[in-house]
Amino acid sequence: MRGTVLYGPRDIRSEDRPEPRITERTDAILRLSASCICGSDLWPYRGIAEVREPTPMGHEYCGVVEEVGKEVKNVRPGQFVVGSFASSDNTCVICRDGYQSSCVHREFMTAAQASLLRVPLADGTLVATSDTPSKELIPSLLATSDVLGTGWFAADAANVKPGSTAVVVGDGAVGLLAVLSAKQMGAERIIAMSRNESRQKLAREFGATDIVTERGDEGIARIKELTKGIGADSVLECVGTQESMTQAIRSTRPGGYVSYVGVPHGVELDGAGLFFAHVHLHGGPAPVRRYLPNLINLVLDGKINPGKVFDLTLPLDQVAEGYRAMDERRAIKTLLQT
Ligand SMILES: [Zn+2]
Repeated sequence: MRGTVLYGPRDIRSEDRPEPRITERTDAILRLSASCICGSDLWPYRGIAEVREPTPMGHEYCGVVEEVGKEVKNVRPGQFVVGSFASSDNTCVICRDGYQSSCVHREFMTAAQASLLRVPLADGTLVATSDTPSKELIPSLLATSDVLGTGWFAADAANVKPGSTAVVVGDGAVGLLAVLSAKQMGAERIIAMSRNESRQKLAREFGATDIVTERGDEGIARIKELTKGIGADSVLECVGTQESMTQAIRSTRPGGYVSYVGVPHGVELDGAGLFFAHVHLHGGPAPVRRYLPNLINLVLDGKINPGKVFDLTLPLDQVAEGYRAMDERRAIKTLLQT
């Protein structure tokens, strides 16, 4: 089958790879309907996260169950399913508390930029739809697997409520879907920080009421201007750099909430700054599995269209161009036809 392997910085290849097989009785094998490239895949692609050995890539997926292990009860061959980028048993104390992406049995998915995928802990990881969805819905269902689930966690962890003022730092696919999520949760004002015209447009379509193009101290000053001088109730940090995290904390009002869902690279927090900022901080790998049933229903009911973040579609064997386009910010997010 076709699969994607990262060999080193900017060396991504589409290859013929062995088909995955059931190795545990709790596994399922999926024939993927589509896959995609994540913003977080760019960290190893750019060499910022080290690649020690050839690494299969991809962790966002949806598709049809092809085969299940002997102990799998909740999904069966022929069903359409979506799963999270982190596998989970969905029964341990951490899962029951809603933090499935830190399940005691968690494995981070990889190798989903392929035509077939092995999913461990299928019963706790996968969510099946009652019918096979129409083709047009595949991009939006694929988005629930990570990018929307992560944007949703950003809004939830930042305590976005009806009437809130929310700021979204980052105009990547997660940031844009964090705007959509804040809108769904009833935020009255949603300020998107973006300098890119096509991304600003999509942010507005998803519910942004204001756009701030400034960054750093100027960006913080602009947010204060827009929030009666005190800062926002909720700030959603969707990048993972020192600059974006500092900007997020300093744009939040005392007593407000900062969420952080971008994988941090080189972020350090100053204790005294944090102390006097007087904000709630909550983030981490999004517990997508907690939100999946609701997000899948919102898509199936036509209430949201998160698949709009895919502005480039390529066949799986042209995956290298997909990475290049995202690296050069020519594309927001690449969908791969499996
Ligand atoms: Zn668990």
